[in-house]
Parts: sequence; structure tokens; C-alpha cells
Amino acid sequence: MSKHHYDLIAIGAGGGGLSVAERAAAHGAHCAVVEAGRLGGTCVNVGCVPKKVMWFGAQIAHAVADAHDYGFDLSLRGFDWATLKHKRDAYVKGINDWYRTYLADSDVTVLAGRGRFVDAHSIEIEGRIYTAEHIVIASGGEPVWPDVPGAELGISSNGFFELESLPGRVAVVGAGYIAVELAGMLRALGAEVALYLRGERLLRRFDHMLREHLTEALLDEGIDIFTHTQVAEVRRADDGRLNLYCGQGRESAGFNAVLWAIGRRPAVAGLNLESIGVLLEDSGHVQVDDFQNTNVPGVYAIGDVTGQMELTPVAIAAGRRLADRLFGGQPDRHLNYENIPTVVFSHPPIGTVGLSEDEAREKHGDAVKIYQASFTPMYHAVTGRKVKTAVKLITVGAKEKVVGAHVIGHGADEMLQGFAVAIRMGATKRDLDDTVAIHPTSAEELVTLR
Ligand code: NDP
Repeated sequence: MSKHHYDLIAIGAGGGGLSVAERAAAHGAHCAVVEAGRLGGTCVNVGCVPKKVMWFGAQIAHAVADAHDYGFDLSLRGFDWATLKHKRDAYVKGINDWYRTYLADSDVTVLAGRGRFVDAHSIEIEGRIYTAEHIVIASGGEPVWPDVPGAELGISSNGFFELESLPGRVAVVGAGYIAVELAGMLRALGAEVALYLRGERLLRRFDHMLREHLTEALLDEGIDIFTHTQVAEVRRADDGRLNLYCGQGRESAGFNAVLWAIGRRPAVAGLNLESIGVLLEDSGHVQVDDFQNTNVPGVYAIGDVTGQMELTPVAIAAGRRLADRLFGGQPDRHLNYENIPTVVFSHPPIGTVGLSEDEAREKHGDAVKIYQASFTPMYHAVTGRKVKTAVKLITVGAKEKVVGAHVIGHGADEMLQGFAVAIRMGATKRDLDDTVAIHPTSAEELVTLR
């Protein structure tokens, strides 16, 4: 067998590509991953991992603000963004290095460069041809840039992670995960932040209880929110700062940074998918069936490039299952995309799994029953800052099967995983009621709702 022939090649060494190759190799397959950038993909390099470090930094900023109420006599001499950034980058680099060793130990070859399909079983990387029985497209996504004059003066989430200092005044454009997460941490770390929504709401597809509480919390933190505001142009003023023009004479001046957080698109450019006839969705995502097969035999797609819940653990789960199916003798193995829990690392964080109230009512009509509560968590009992927590359960039918659980507030990020297990197992409201509460916690509210 040629040394350039593999059982499986994954294009992209992010969560999806690494997982499918590593699991396939564990089943004995000869595997390679193709990567032009750093190992680990978006999540490790310009997503979840560095974001979470910044989020912890923002949590500390809040704790410092609350410390006085807990009796601490602190004098703060400042916050050094550069220290946090450099420690964060060193941590990320450690993960990149770890992956290199791990892949070598797992017998997965790293092919450095950009892969381009030649046919369904061959790809070209920098003039060299590599062949495989199975090729997995795991090329991920990239930030969308708006088509407005001066867009290049702004930065995307990738640029956020390159900032060497905290911008004093930031315009964040968008209303999704990235917009609310970055707006919240910039504000907590000391920036003035204005959030520009083209529509009425943040996190449009989330349960309305979550949206309303988050909007209130962001406003309380001092973030300006402009709804129904479409940024039409960015210009640099003589003082070097950035001005936004939003139509109808509306102008906001004096930003140190403009952050575009208006979605991500699949990274398919340059893969030459059209030459092998891989079908794409209208959105540009690679079309796949329930088993991650594209329409071309031997070619598969996983992760953000498919647009199926763009979350790292989803890509990992889909990749592992695909490898189990192809090499592990488990022909029916595939990922069930229902009831996938997700956390938005906003301030406060959101944890959500299952249907929103609107989705449940649309699907189940009058069979839906809602349980919810909103309260000041004990942490804030003694603080001047009062950030509310809210919990909500969506149940269906006489047995009150839980089809959705939503939490916003201190600790929501760590609270949800166990409830997601229960919901996946078909928990009813009665099952939650029969579970003894852990006191005093905010999570106990989810098993004591009336
Ligand atoms: P989202 O899809 O979450 O949100 C995109 C936002 O951009 C929407 O609010 C949309 O507004 C807005 N938008 C789109 N076009 C424009 C425009 N031209 N002008 C102004 N606003 C616009 O994308 P993100 O980039 O925030 O995140 C991408 C994905 O990455 C997420 O969906 C999520 O799956 C994943 N992610 C997960 C995280 C986590 O797990 N914690 C963190 C970050 C990202 P409208 O609502 O009006 O359509």
C-alpha cells in the first residue's frame, strides 16, 4: 500500500476531524488529518477555549466588584489585559502541542496544508496526492463579514482574540452567541459596550424567558442595546476612532473597536467540492443524511461545515460515531441531534436543553405545561449587584414529560449537564419532584417548582 494511501482522511483538525481520525485509528484504521492552521480548530484556537479563559477573567471582575459587600477591603490597582491574553495564549499553545503528541501516539498522521478534492477518494495538498477509502469533510466555519463600506475597519471574533489591550469603547454588532458572550466579558473587564441588533431580540431562537432576563441583565451592567439598527457604514475619524452610520441620519461616534458577530459560514471554499458533485444546502453547508453521509459515496461531513448545531461536542460526537460505524462494526451508530444541551457564556450564563416554550406550543399545543421561577440567588443576597436567576421547565402531556429545561443565572453553565441526562432519559416532572433537592443551591429550584 502506498504511504500516501489511508483508510480515512479528515479534512480539518478541529473537534470533528480530530475525533473521527482518533476514534478510527483506535479501531485499527490508518488515518490522517489535513490542517493548514493550528491543531484544534476554532474551538481551541479562536473559540470556546480562549473565550472561556476570558469569561473566567470577567467572572473575577464581577467578584472584585462584589468583594466589598462580602467584607473585603480591596484596593484594585488595575487590570492588565496583556497578562491575561499572554497566559491564555500560552495555555492554547500547550493544547496545540499536546494534540501533536497525542496524534503521533494515536498513529494519526498530520498532513500540513490545504486539502482539495481531486476525486471522491483523492485529495491534493500542496501538489501531492493522498488517497483514502473514506474522506471526511470537517473544515468547520469562519466568521461572516458584512458587505458594508468600512467593514474591514472592524474585527471578527478571531480579531477579538488578537487584541493586545482592552478597547475602551466597543460596538458589538449581532445578537447571537458570540455577540452576547463577547459584549458581556468586554463590559465586565471595563469597556463601554454598545450592542447593535438588526432585529428586536437577542438570541432569537432561545426561550423568551432567557432572552428577557439576559436583556435586563445586560442593560443593568450598563451595556447600551440598540434594536432595529442595521450598521450601514463604518468610517475612521480624524482622531483614529471609529464611527458607525446606521441609516436615517443615525450615527454613533468614538469607538475604539467594532466587533462583527453576525454569524459564521461553512468553510468550503477551495475544497473543490463542486468537482466531485457534493451537494450543498442553500446556506452553503454540506448536505448530509442522519449518518453524516454526503450524496457522494465515501465522502462524509461532520461539524460546523454541516450547520447541524455548531457546537464542538456535537462535532466530536458525530465524528466518533461515524468512526464507530465505518470501522467499529456498529452499522447503525449515528448521532441523535435531539436534546443537545448548550450553554451561552453570557453574564449571567445561560444553560438550555430541549424545546423552547414557543417550539413546544407549536408542536404540542395545549398539552404543554410550564413551570418557572425567578429569584435573586443567595450569592447576591448580600451584594449591591442583584443579578437574577430564572429557571423554566417545559412539560408535555398527562405524564408531564420534560421536553425543555432553561436556566439563566449564576452557575447555570455547570447546572445543566445532569438535567440534560435526565431529559434524554425521558424524565417527567414527577421524576424531578421525587429527586431530593441539594440545599442551598440555585439548581434545587428545578426539582422544587410548583
Ligand atoms: P449566531 O448564529 O448565534 O448569531 C448570528 C447573529 O448575527 C444573529 O443574532 C443575527 O441576527 C445576526 N446577524 C446576522 N446577519 C446580520 C447583519 N447583517 N447585521 C446584523 N446582525 C446580523 O452566530 P454567532 O456568530 O454568534 O455564533 C455562531 C455559532 O457558533 C452559534 O450559532 C453557536 O452554534 C456557535 N457558538 C457557540 C458558543 C457556545 O457554545 N457557547 C459560543 C459561540 C458560538 P438575527 O437574530 O436578527 O438573525
